[in-house]
Formats: sequence, C-alpha cells, structure tokens
Amino acid sequence: MLRRLSVLAPLAAALAAVLAAPAALAQEKVLNLYSARHYQTDEALYANFTKATGIRINRIEGKEDELLERIRNEGAASPADILLTVDASRLQVADQLGLFQPVKSALLEARVPANLRTPTWYSFSTRARVIVYNKVAVKREQVQSYEDLAGPALKNQVCVRSGAHPYNLSLGGALIAHHGEAKTEAWARGLVANFARSPKGGDTDQIKAVAAGECGVTISNTYYLVRMLRSTKPEDQAAMRAVGIVWPNQASWGTHVNVSGAGVLRHAPNRDAAVKFLEYLASDEAQAYFANGNNEWPVVASARVANRELDALGSFKADALPIGDIARHTAAAQKVFDRAGWK
Ligand code: FE
Repeated sequence: MLRRLSVLAPLAAALAAVLAAPAALAQEKVLNLYSARHYQTDEALYANFTKATGIRINRIEGKEDELLERIRNEGAASPADILLTVDASRLQVADQLGLFQPVKSALLEARVPANLRTPTWYSFSTRARVIVYNKVAVKREQVQSYEDLAGPALKNQVCVRSGAHPYNLSLGGALIAHHGEAKTEAWARGLVANFARSPKGGDTDQIKAVAAGECGVTISNTYYLVRMLRSTKPEDQAAMRAVGIVWPNQASWGTHVNVSGAGVLRHAPNRDAAVKFLEYLASDEAQAYFANGNNEWPVVASARVANRELDALGSFKADALPIGDIARHTAAAQKVFDRAGWK
C-alpha cells in the first residue's frame, strides 16, 4: 500500500498540475466590456489598456438598447463588467433599472468635471445639440435658441427626428430642468405646429433636408456636422455650404450637451479591472482616442485632440446643469412629447 502510494504520488502531482491549468487560465486578468461604441480608433484604445495593465478585454458590441436588454436578461449571472454607451437618457435607463453599482475613484473625481459624472456612471466625451438652418430660408437671428424653434415665425420650417429618440429626450430633460414640464409641453406643441414634415430619419437626414430647402431649420448633434464637414463627397460639402450653425441659448442657459458614458455593472465579476478601465478612459491618451473616434470633445480638460473640422465649429457656452439632473427628467420628457404629439 505504501509502495503503491509512493509510485502514485508523482502521478497525482502531475494530475493536480494538469487540473490546475484551467484554474490558472481563469485567473488571467480580464475585463468584459459591453460596448455600444465601435470606431476605428477603438482598437488602439483597448490595446493600450491591455499593454498598460495586462488585463485582456473581451468586447461584446451591440446596439445600445440590445446591450441593455442583454444585461437585464443575464441578471446576476451576467459576465458584463462595464456598459459603455451613448446618451444620458440611455445611461439613466440603465441606472434606473439598477444595472450599475456606485463607483468612487479619486482619479475619476479629479479628472471628470463634476457636472459630467454621477455616483454610478461617468461621461467620457461630449457632443452638443445645435441648431442648423438654411441660410436662404431662415435668418440667423430667428433661430438663436431652442425656444425660438417653437415660435409662430417658423411655421412649416422645422424638420427634426423622432421625439422618442434619446437625443431629443435628453434635450427635453434639459428643457424640463430649466422650465418645468408645463412650459416644456407648450414648447413641444409649438415645435410640432412648425413641422415641415412628420419626423423621419436621423440627424444627418435632417441636415440634408435643410440644405436642400425642404425645411428651414433642424436640431443636430455636432458630430454629424463634423462628419459632413470632413466628408470628401462634393454633395456633402455643398450641403454644408448651404447651412448655418447656431450655438443655441448663448444669451440664456447655454447649449445642451450630451455625452458618451460608462458605468460598472452591479454584478461585475471583475470589479477592480472595471474601475481601472474607467480610470484609463480618463487618461489624456485614451481621451484623445475616445473623442476622436466620433468627432467629439474630451471631458478631461488637459486632453488634446487634433480635429480641424471640430475646432472650426468654435467655442460656446454649454449648459452647466449636472448631466444627472438632465438624465433624471428624460422619462418625463417622453410623456411630455407624447402628449404634444411629437412622434
Ligand atoms: Fe448618433
């Protein structure tokens, strides 16, 4: 018996080593990232994180609403560590569903401005929602604010995407935060009364319709304008020559700014890696990749991006409201827009 044991001992040790191998693999540092962003610059962004930390990124890419639904369905068994998505209203929905967990990080607090973070999620780039008008059909003075777009002078001039779209819901959230629900509903009714056509298409479709004279004015996120400005297509260049761009509400509360953002998920199996990733996204280097990927602005003041067309848009006074306050009102904005008939 003793003899047999001594013979078996090395075998048992070898067997144990083999069995331990998958465990060692499982201990390799990983991060499971659910991302609704996918741009050319992402590869370098993620590769540099792995290089700096040794943490491998498993990326699941999908459409914003699909990813949210997937995390919901996976529940406590979800392998997802981080949800990276666009628009305050979507981040709010995830937060409201309890999908995020609070993250406290001195580094994130030092680098991400206070109005661009919440206890659960952080913004990593910004885009503004601006007014775009046809230079022949509309005078610049007529379209200086979001409020102007609802006035009777612009009857049959407004083209805009659906009122149910997150970009408009977040704008509605900002309007409610500043004016309250009743005034925002009156605004939405005025806007709908000015429609040149029923809402259809995305922001780029509206810019093209304004350039073509199908409507006089629209609202668009800045990165769509920069994309058109950077386009080598002659028709895009011609469209951009036909339109003017206004930073809305410079004489009042400032232009509405929306964000791309991310948070650590409640059931994140790799919480430490997830916080490290958020901190990495706030580094100057990652900020440049992140912002440039979609012609946006970095949130970190010291980060520098080289984007001539974005710079050409100039500077503006942004709404100073905390992004969390805007996000909180987006559900009410949906109800207000529904009542006003902004489909
Ligand atoms: Fe977009």
